[in-house]
Amino acid sequence: MIIDCHGHYTTAPKELQAFRDEQIKGNDTPAPLKISDDQIRETIQNGQLKMQQERGSDITIFSPRAAGMGHHIGTGKTSEVWTDVCNTLIHRVVKLFPKNFIGVAQLPQTPGVPPSNSIKELERCVKEFGFVGCNLNPDPSGGKWTDPPMTDKKWWYPFYEKMVELDVPAMVHVSMSCNPNFHTTGAHYINGDTTAFMQFIMSDIFKDFPTLRFIIPHGGGAAPYHWGRYRGLAQDQKRPPFDELLLKNVFFDTCVYHQPGIDLLTKVVPIDNILFASEMIGAVRGIDPNTGHHYDDTKRYIDKAPISEADRKKIFETNTKKVFPRFDKSYAANN
Ligand SMILES: [Zn+2]
Repeated sequence: MIIDCHGHYTTAPKELQAFRDEQIKGNDTPAPLKISDDQIRETIQNGQLKMQQERGSDITIFSPRAAGMGHHIGTGKTSEVWTDVCNTLIHRVVKLFPKNFIGVAQLPQTPGVPPSNSIKELERCVKEFGFVGCNLNPDPSGGKWTDPPMTDKKWWYPFYEKMVELDVPAMVHVSMSCNPNFHTTGAHYINGDTTAFMQFIMSDIFKDFPTLRFIIPHGGGAAPYHWGRYRGLAQDQKRPPFDELLLKNVFFDTCVYHQPGIDLLTKVVPIDNILFASEMIGAVRGIDPNTGHHYDDTKRYIDKAPISEADRKKIFETNTKKVFPRFDKSYAANN
């Protein structure tokens, strides 16, 4: 089974955005969203499902559009209503296509509001919808970084306790940037990934939560390319070596969109810490003129990486099932 651990419903029917536009205008609770099963079928069959079939992956761990989370918009109430609607829509996709999609939750975060407020929605998604993880935004302010670091005990630990109890991982995933200095997918996303990695290095978070797991998407931001820098910084700060410090807890996806990037990732980062992902249909939708293939057709790069077949299987399937222990049970229940 080839599992793509990172995909968003970027092709949702336009009614979803119309609902959100009402919220942006100041109405926290617009009229209930009306989208038919046929509309969902059409957007998926002509979008993500088609890509899966063309490219040879089997199932995508699927969540609401990340840039659309917009945690900085409105109040805690705005975010709660929006998140409920987005997660419910993902649940409907999974029900219609149980062999091809499995759900991951958006969280109703808001700057200045403790992440413990997201516990209820996480529980609902895991227990009622069979979701297997969540996307956690390290910067709900959208590029202003106004809340405490991800390793802050008082702020974040109550939420992590719930993740551990439910045995679900989180993908560290920022949303849209509202700081014009940071392009959303080109700068803010990669900043978010790199920032989280450095915060983990400087903290005892995984001593406090030995089974807490995070996926750092977009190939781990700058971390794998600068592995020596980060190891050196950790050493200077008298932090333990990475295998002891974070490699049981932190994983990287394969959304780097070119062969040399994947070759570097698989050479630098232990194979057990790499999970296959494409983030299709996402930020980078074009065809690379050098290869004639879509940049985000990432399976090709893993297929060509100079690693053993056993290692390829780990990246495509086994590692992901370890990081998402609810995967098999949820898949069986859905089917
Ligand atoms: Zn994403």
